[in-house]
Amino acid sequence: MTAEQKPAYKAPTQAESWVYFNGEFKQYKDVHLGLMTHALHYGTGCFEGIRAYWNENQQQLFCLLMEPHFKRLHNSAKILRIELPHTVEQMVEATLEIMRRNAYREDVYIRPLAFKSSEEIGVRLHGLQDSFAIYTAPFGNYVDVDAGIRCMVSSWRRVDDNAAPARAKVTGIYINSALAKTEANENGFDEAIVLTQEGHVSEGSAENLFIVRDGVVITPSASDNILEGVTRNVMMQLAREDLGLTVVERSIDRSELYVADEVFLCGTGAQVSPVIEVDHRQIGDGKPGVVTQGLQRLYFDTVKGRVEERLDWLHPVY
Ligand code: PMP
Repeated sequence: MTAEQKPAYKAPTQAESWVYFNGEFKQYKDVHLGLMTHALHYGTGCFEGIRAYWNENQQQLFCLLMEPHFKRLHNSAKILRIELPHTVEQMVEATLEIMRRNAYREDVYIRPLAFKSSEEIGVRLHGLQDSFAIYTAPFGNYVDVDAGIRCMVSSWRRVDDNAAPARAKVTGIYINSALAKTEANENGFDEAIVLTQEGHVSEGSAENLFIVRDGVVITPSASDNILEGVTRNVMMQLAREDLGLTVVERSIDRSELYVADEVFLCGTGAQVSPVIEVDHRQIGDGKPGVVTQGLQRLYFDTVKGRVEERLDWLHPVY
């Protein structure tokens, strides 16, 4: 078939898209949840956000780093005492099958979700039924990755691990992110940066944070109530291995943000997003920094399947 004869690509509608729910592939319109579903009332669920990148030249769709995401889902489920019925490998396979059924030819977001699905009142974790779903949808940029974004330090503090498990990706905990994000947007900023209860920098509303000072790449440590991001690990690896930079995990003070040479946020959704202003202080010269841009280039080359040595980070769909 020539290019002209090929039918134009059209993503499935949400209603018709294939999902995975409690062991079966179904269309979105055929999955129904009851009004009393436990997780809807009490936030008793955990989830992941995974991306797949379309490579037009190779006519291939690459799912990025599925194993670490599904491993984190297992950890989150363990903390919430949710029984996940599948191994990492089985969840990878189910995801690939959904992608094929939906026949995507563009960038996609993948949302696995494990949750307490009993339809009853009573806040607790034990003695409840669990469900597991995977939903997917076409997805572009979540925040700007080119010009750089303007951030404010939130008046909301990051949830403390002893109040709710910060390293677990728990649905209910996202009220913390939502409060910070809306406050930032309504105050005219693109993103929020949240501090720990002690006043150290934790992360963005849905991104991990890095600063660069005198050529050293610094990010808050795992005990600063961050979500232990998959992209954060990737940034540390690329900075060390490809850029030959020193990477340090340690606490960061608020005022260090203002004097940093570079600040950037990273996450599966956000990708690599340069921060050019924090609390009305220009970062560096007010443009995306060289280290940030270098990491961004390496990241996009890798996720699009253009780096031979790192093809093992990707699962091709077709
Ligand atoms: N922190 C929070 C609160 C997030 O929601 C995310 C996005 N999952 C991240 C950090 C970045 O994590 P990852 O790189 O695994 O997407």
